[in-house]
Amino acid sequence: MFMIGQGERTVAIGPAEPRDCPRCQQQTDFVPQLKYSYGEFDLLFGFVYNKRYQLACPQCGHGWILDTRQTERDLPRHPLLFRLRYGFLILAGLIAALGLAAYAYRHSG
Ligand SMILES: [Zn+2]
Repeated sequence: MFMIGQGERTVAIGPAEPRDCPRCQQQTDFVPQLKYSYGEFDLLFGFVYNKRYQLACPQCGHGWILDTRQTERDLPRHPLLFRLRYGFLILAGLIAALGLAAYAYRHSG
């Protein structure tokens, strides 16, 4: 039985940087974040879409969108969970293995 879920997450990806927020009109600690939507099957396999890096004010949410390629290059490690990043590949591999097994079974006599 498969359970299918989806949702949206925002994770902090680095130390806060003090910046002047034009909306709060004061200096706040802007936090670099990764915001993404995800879907998952059976809590094991998942995939990510609508990935976006941003720098956001913790008080009002005002912020900037960061360049994805540049941000990922500067990160010490990729912030997404392994299974969300590679889930589709693992799933595809499993399906291929099952298909091969079924094929071998049919032709085994
Ligand atoms: Zn603000």
